[in-house]
Amino acid sequence: MKVVIAGAGISGLATAFWLKKAGAEVIILEKREQVGGSMRTLTENGYLIDFGPNSALETTPLIKEIVDEVGLTAEMMYADAKASKRYILKNGELMPLPMSPPAFLKTRLFSTAAKIRLMKEPFIGKSDDGYYQSIARFVVRRLGQEFLDYAISPFVSGVFAGDPDRLSVKSAFPKLYRLEELYGGLIKGTIKGARERKKNKEKSKQSAKMFSFRRGMTSFPEAIASHLGTGVVCGAEITGVERSDRQIKVTFRTDKGVQEILADKFLSTMPAKQTAALLENIDVMLPKHLNEIYYPPVKVLYLGYKTSDIPRPLDGFGFLIPAKEKRIFLGAIWSSVLFPNRAPEGKACFTLFVGGATKPHLFEMPDNDLNREVISQFSEIMGITAEPDLIKELYWEKAIPQYNLGYIEHENYFERFEVNNPGFYLGGNYRGGISVGDCVKNSKPLAEKILQN
Ligand SMILES: Cc1cc2nc3c(=O)[nH]c(=O)nc-3n(C[C@H](O)[C@H](O)[C@H](O)COP(=O)(O)OP(=O)(O)OC[C@H]3O[C@@H](n4cnc5c(N)ncnc54)[C@H](O)[C@@H]3O)c2cc1C
Repeated sequence: MKVVIAGAGISGLATAFWLKKAGAEVIILEKREQVGGSMRTLTENGYLIDFGPNSALETTPLIKEIVDEVGLTAEMMYADAKASKRYILKNGELMPLPMSPPAFLKTRLFSTAAKIRLMKEPFIGKSDDGYYQSIARFVVRRLGQEFLDYAISPFVSGVFAGDPDRLSVKSAFPKLYRLEELYGGLIKGTIKGARERKKNKEKSKQSAKMFSFRRGMTSFPEAIASHLGTGVVCGAEITGVERSDRQIKVTFRTDKGVQEILADKFLSTMPAKQTAALLENIDVMLPKHLNEIYYPPVKVLYLGYKTSDIPRPLDGFGFLIPAKEKRIFLGAIWSSVLFPNRAPEGKACFTLFVGGATKPHLFEMPDNDLNREVISQFSEIMGITAEPDLIKELYWEKAIPQYNLGYIEHENYFERFEVNNPGFYLGGNYRGGISVGDCVKNSKPLAEKILQN
């Protein structure tokens, strides 16, 4: 069986890994000159910069299985224990997010009224809204407004760069939704869910270990690509996909000109818009669903400083900023705390996120003004008076797919598309989760589906 995969991000590469292991012939066509998609590592002046994911969570044993088989075990690094501490900005002050019941009772992050409100959660019934419920509405109903403002909303912008009023709880946070559906509440469900995960050998996002690689996140896709060998073709932009007798004809452009391949199966892991454009001849309704998926713009601003210029202790993952605090950026990862080799001796580095679904209008500002304002607010929060030693940036025009209200209709259609169009498959981060862990977790069942049907 010959399978052509569009896109050499982690979704395409991990799926190819399982297909190859099962004996299928796989060809991955990737538009860019490098593999990795949203994973982008750069080294400069002794700094190691990740403009996409800085790390990922080891939520599935499949990650380790791939890492070991592609020979990357010695390169894998787990985040420093300090990274388990996360800060939230409140009234201009960085407050640690409480991680245990005693810390929760003591914290100044939530008022006494909010703490009492949280304790009522086990007694709150299910909503009648069904699928059409935003994460904001779900959290306010179950846990109260303050918990939304100072815990969940910043978390939502940290993961999705998303808008909690628009993200669907069912599609974007299926595990949270399931806790209410199956167990009637989050607290009851968390306790019972932990037992289930133990049985399935899976880890919750809270307990999964955070990892990266000595030479940054792109080591992962690069090692899978080397393992796959000549099956990965970079600089190959797919320009057409059509049925040809019982096969699928894939046309692509390289610097050698236009070429064609015949495949038995075709999997797209390209972002939604590109998939829509290429599969419009195959299914007329598919582009409507794919083009409705919103990918907000995000800028990643990377800052390096001399450690001696940072007056506060660097003892955590970084901080998130609730929308209520009215700042210009979403938060900052203290990247060199997670993995010390990210900055040269005597230096520290930070990854800041700007924009997202709630602040796309910021990019109407001149770039220099925006950067200056972000750096000024970051310095004020951190108590830094010195100028950065290094400034680097990457603007993602379409960063992360938003699983917004009504997403269930897209998800259902994607399933119908595969049934109605044998040989065609849809993968990538707009299906089944946006995290690297979810992309890997979804890759094995996807490969099995391709092999079976
Ligand atoms: C700024 C940012 C920060 C993030 N932080 C984290 C994090 O901390 N932790 C985490 O777990 N996740 C994070 N994510 C999410 C995660 O990195 C992505 O969801 C995941 O890497 C997506 O992988 P993918 O293979 O599905 O898609 P992509 O990586 O988008 O890959 C799709 C590929 O298709 C290729 N392509 C497009 N058109 C064509 C064409 N015509 N022909 C051939 N190829 C084509 C593209 O070039 C691309 O390489 C982050 C994402 C971003 C953008």
